[in-house]
Amino acid sequence: MAKARSNRSVLVLAGDGIGPEIMREAMRVMEFFDRRRIASFEVSEGLVGGSAYDADGVPLTDATLARAQAADAVLFGSVGGPRWETLPFELQPERGLLKLRKEMDLFANLRPAQVFEALAEASSLKRDLVAGLDLLIVRELTGGIYFGDPRGIETMPDGTRRGINTEVYTEAEIERVVRAAFELAQKRAKRLCEVDKANVMESGLLWREVANRVKADYADVELSFMYADNCAMQLVRAPKQFDVIVTSNLFGDLLSDCAAMLTGSLGMLPSASLGAADAQGRRKALYEPVHGSAPDIAGKDLANPLACVLSLAMMLRYSFDLRDEADLVEKAVRATLAAGARTADIARSGETRLSTRSMGDAVLAALERAL
Ligand code: NAD
Repeated sequence: MAKARSNRSVLVLAGDGIGPEIMREAMRVMEFFDRRRIASFEVSEGLVGGSAYDADGVPLTDATLARAQAADAVLFGSVGGPRWETLPFELQPERGLLKLRKEMDLFANLRPAQVFEALAEASSLKRDLVAGLDLLIVRELTGGIYFGDPRGIETMPDGTRRGINTEVYTEAEIERVVRAAFELAQKRAKRLCEVDKANVMESGLLWREVANRVKADYADVELSFMYADNCAMQLVRAPKQFDVIVTSNLFGDLLSDCAAMLTGSLGMLPSASLGAADAQGRRKALYEPVHGSAPDIAGKDLANPLACVLSLAMMLRYSFDLRDEADLVEKAVRATLAAGARTADIARSGETRLSTRSMGDAVLAALERAL
């Protein structure tokens, strides 16, 4: 694991609510790798969301956006809260995150669904169906029916109205997300399933055609196809058959939430959004927990920091190719849970509830032990 290199620049945007609390614990994991001379990071911090509005009058300044564009990776906490709810739409904290995603052109959204042995009971499915589950859904994020034209509600000549949205994908839009998914599969179990409705939608036929063509560049990855309705069934019937799934914006939206529920708590779910690769193969990337700023528990040292810590593990794996280190973090989280450590959101009645800081301490101790 001796890969000490110091040009990994990470912009940390902790945000609002529980953001700073959970981020503090994730940053301790980066400090651990630095201290043990395993991997070093050039970390800088910035403001986003309500805290950026309070300081600068906007949820994301151009200067912070430029720093995000220049960084190797952005680690994001959460934004929003009641204090800023009455602001005009364009100044709302969430606009800061949406602007980052749009300006960085983050077209591939990665949502892993990983079941930790100790939490397998929290799944809505039977333990044997989900124990050991580790799948990744890659959702196209900037195209498809949510953005396609024509769109709107129009009145017909006979006075009745109709609502219109258009599923439209160019070959280039499909190719870039499919390539990203192949590359991710190469870093995992090397199986990619492309999900569409090619039986009833021409855009789905094009997805299949492009995936088949691109496959030639990824000989080590096995490619399969599945219709989206069948995929929804298979996710709740036998989810462990999947490694990486790649799909459109709409199907990915539905299937990733479905897969998330296989794993239990919101406080455990990491995510990533990736942009285009540069000449060196490096992609713009933003890593963040799936949950929001949880204003109901903010500032109380109650939040579960594991989704943020696991987002950091994704950053190690996908932005820096530090696979052993990512495995180490995930292993430490697994060991921490196996030893019974629980924050309130994942504790069952009668179990001791750890603070955010104590959960961070437990992960750090497990990391030290795992070396
Ligand atoms: P939320 O995810 O913040 O909270 C939902 C529930 O889950 C709450 O009861 C909360 O206490 C709990 N929860 C969430 N994360 C937790 C964690 N790490 N540990 C323990 N419990 C946790 O969603 P919400 O209440 O709908 O939204 C609150 C604010 O967050 C809003 O302003 C919303 O706009 C914003 N939001 C931001 C993001 C983001 O930054 N990406 C995402 C969703 C919502």
